[in-house]
Amino acid sequence: MSELETWILGNGALVKGGSPAEVVPRGAVAWTGDRISAAGDESAIRARFPDARYLDGRGGIILPGLVNIHHHFYSALARGLDPGVPMRSFPEVLDRLWWRLDRALDAESVRISALLSAAECVRHGCTTVFDHHASPSWIEGSLDAIAEGAGQAGISALLCYEITDRNGSAGAEAGIEENLRFLAERADDTRVRGVVGLHASFTLRDETLARVAEQRPPGSGCHIHVAEDPVDVQASIDAFGAGPVERLGRFDLLDERALLAHAIHLEQADYERAAEADAVLIHNPESNANNGVGRLNVPRTAALGCTLGLGTDGMSSSMLRALRFAFLTHRGATGDPSSGFEALPELLAANAAAARRFFAEPLLGQLVEGAPADIIAVDSPPPTPISDENLFGHLVYGSSESPVRHTVARGQVLLEDFRHTTLDPEELSARARELAPPLWKRFHALDWNTPYLGPPEG
Ligand SMILES: [Zn+2]
Repeated sequence: MSELETWILGNGALVKGGSPAEVVPRGAVAWTGDRISAAGDESAIRARFPDARYLDGRGGIILPGLVNIHHHFYSALARGLDPGVPMRSFPEVLDRLWWRLDRALDAESVRISALLSAAECVRHGCTTVFDHHASPSWIEGSLDAIAEGAGQAGISALLCYEITDRNGSAGAEAGIEENLRFLAERADDTRVRGVVGLHASFTLRDETLARVAEQRPPGSGCHIHVAEDPVDVQASIDAFGAGPVERLGRFDLLDERALLAHAIHLEQADYERAAEADAVLIHNPESNANNGVGRLNVPRTAALGCTLGLGTDGMSSSMLRALRFAFLTHRGATGDPSSGFEALPELLAANAAAARRFFAEPLLGQLVEGAPADIIAVDSPPPTPISDENLFGHLVYGSSESPVRHTVARGQVLLEDFRHTTLDPEELSARARELAPPLWKRFHALDWNTPYLGPPEG
């Protein structure tokens, strides 16, 4: 067996994760291979591993690698794209922007989008990401391309293809096949795994949901948009006689591996049903503000017993900024400057807990012996004392606006003193700027007014 090198990331305020988070004001973490060997007081760690290679945290905050549980890598080349038509409602945003962009994507643009997004994850300290993918003109093999991008970057990922009937039954079938193929092939992969992707209730026929329920392997979970806008609820009730959460229940898709993005426009009974199933509701505050669709009230739904998490929905790859935005928009909406300290401080740890439901890593999200070596150092030296009690304040008022200095995933240093070691974002962006104009040209050649549901079977 080859001898594995031991590393230490030190000189920072160490946040061990877990609950309570346990802050060591001058701490360090040591790892060998992909496992953490020890974490705690810096002097003790350095005495124990005198020959270890040393990464200097420069007085910043050392955290477990961040987890993003709702992202869309495929949206990377939409930056600066003018749809050329007004988008006055959420259905128009989908129809005139996203459903044209995803249809215009080809293999090469999916690949570069994945690499660009994975590089952003590394830059913002995200070491595990749940991606929700759509590229109706190139379905089969698309998840492999994204897996390859995540692998090249060095991060862990839970991937899915969004099944939908909006492109007809053949498109729905191809989406199901891509998920099933990927799930089977990656069942034993420790870094990149599959989950069943579903677009949203209002673009999924009963027959399609029934096929998914019948064909998916037991316990494979699903990742779906739920009640992002009232249209999802109303159109589901009109076409199928039930709202989105009830429909998932009907098809046995509502369980502890159900990832429900947004979950904004639901009734109390829906939240209680989701809580009972222990499904994960994913708050995406920046995206919701961008689309003007309202927001999930995290403290209220947490009080109803719901399990919650936080995503970026393709808006960015920065979880710390999303956390700050969640906090500020909650205060803005409640008009209460003392609010925001209920449930919101738990979101990052909740994301790690969600990741543990899919990856066989019971210690993921904690800096303790035996845990996967997913570690970051944020360049925000605390200007005041830091402890378990005020950590959230340090994160939302300080770290969220600071760059990440080091990112380590499964022991591999992916970002060292702000420099990427696995990808070259400058080169990737240059390549992307060549691919974007033809992609945008294909986009503009496409029509809109896509019906929510494609032609029925037969
Ligand atoms: Zn989304």
